[in-house]
Amino acid sequence: MNERDILIVGAGTAGLTAAIYVQRAGRHAVLFEKSAPGGQIVTANEIQNYPGFVSVNGADFAYRLYDQAVRLGAEFLSEEVLEIIPADHSVTVRTAAGTRTGRALIYAAGASHRRLGLPEEEKLIGKGISFCANCDGAFFRDKRVAVNGGGNTALDDAVYLSRMASEVYLIHRRKEYRAEEALQKQIAEIGNIHPILDTVITGLKENDGHLSGLRLQNKDSGEETELAAEGLFLAIGMKPETGLLKGIVKLDDAGYIIASEDTRTDVPNIFAAGDVRKKQVRQLTTAAADGTAAAIQAVSL
Ligand code: NAP
Repeated sequence: MNERDILIVGAGTAGLTAAIYVQRAGRHAVLFEKSAPGGQIVTANEIQNYPGFVSVNGADFAYRLYDQAVRLGAEFLSEEVLEIIPADHSVTVRTAAGTRTGRALIYAAGASHRRLGLPEEEKLIGKGISFCANCDGAFFRDKRVAVNGGGNTALDDAVYLSRMASEVYLIHRRKEYRAEEALQKQIAEIGNIHPILDTVITGLKENDGHLSGLRLQNKDSGEETELAAEGLFLAIGMKPETGLLKGIVKLDDAGYIIASEDTRTDVPNIFAAGDVRKKQVRQLTTAAADGTAAAIQAVSL
């Protein structure tokens, strides 16, 4: 083990911010990431609420963070962590390439996309169902698409898709959106976004192995209808990626890591940063704040 090493699982906003602080504190950040650096924000169309940026594309923002961390000397490993093995004064992670041991571990693996749980859903992912408007929107030029969800992601996706799809049906299970006011105002002004509120998706229709429509049910009246759509963008939230820490640190019933504001878990050299931590507010700014706190705690060991 190198005493200087701080292992960081996940290179999203929390993990990359932690890496920046670890490097600047004179220690060595070793980042493990199974996909591209940047995490969830990579697919955001436009960020308008990160201080210092009036407007920035998600992928550009992610690249800036990654570039900053690597320029400072952080080591970036494109490897999936398979196991975490804690010890009194060290933590080891195992990947397919071998093991690596550091003085402390910052766990910032984020969250994955929630599914509806409908029978044909998994089969239709990539065949009409998508979790990323920015990545897949171009496939739906001049087509009818639906977006499901009422949070920032859903409304942001609807705005983006309205520029290429012919019609965008924004389906949300309640009458009020969770998304911020500014986005609600924006969608109200776009002619080809059609909100369908108080409604759940109860079934998926397919034609030749591709999504062709949705079965909908109004929660108030119970009325069932069908909607023709070739695309469905699911933006119904995330679930935490904390399976690796089950039995190692305390998790709540939903799987979020129970850690204090300073990101300390019940294991002294494991810190939880970003969307994996049980908390009220999950934003880019709070992910960056967690990464900062975790790094400052970790380098003090
Ligand atoms: P979210 O805020 O958790 O919203 C998820 C939405 O999906 C909610 O409206 C929820 O409905 C709905 N939902 C959950 N489970 C469902 C189910 N089984 N069936 C139907 N609908 C379901 O998630 P998010 O929009 O992905 O945002 C995650 C975080 O990232 C938030 O903190 C958000 O502010 C942030 N974010 C920020 C930006 C930006 O600033 N530009 C962009 C994207 C995301 P209810 O409202 O009824 O619970």
